[in-house]
Amino acid sequence: MSATDTTAASTCSVAGCDRSAVKRGWCSAHYMRNHRTGSPTGSVPRARLDIAGRRFGRLVATEPVAGAGWRCLCDCGRTRVARTADLTRGMVRECSHLGVAHGPLTDDQPGEG
Ligand SMILES: [Zn+2]
Ligand SMILES: [Zn+2]
Repeated sequence: MSATDTTAASTCSVAGCDRSAVKRGWCSAHYMRNHRTGSPTGSVPRARLDIAGRRFGRLVATEPVAGAGWRCLCDCGRTRVARTADLTRGMVRECSHLGVAHGPLTDDQPGEG
């Protein structure tokens, strides 16, 4: 009953992974992860979105703020820190300081390319 031949179909050497090994003892997914991160179980570093200089409504992203998003310069001259996701989704488009009068906001923005 113990005639199992494991030489033909080896599995990925990463613990807990039972996919078949294709390269260097790893499955394709773990091989690619090792290729990218230097470790088959390494986490892929989240590429920080670089939006410096990009315009979102009246705001232009100027510098990243650790843990908070981006500092943005509004057309009115004030700055505001906004989360990256809020900017890219169009949730935040101006400084929104109370008392600051903004004219009508046109949608005629330069492309993102
Ligand atoms: Zn694997
Ligand atoms: Zn403003």
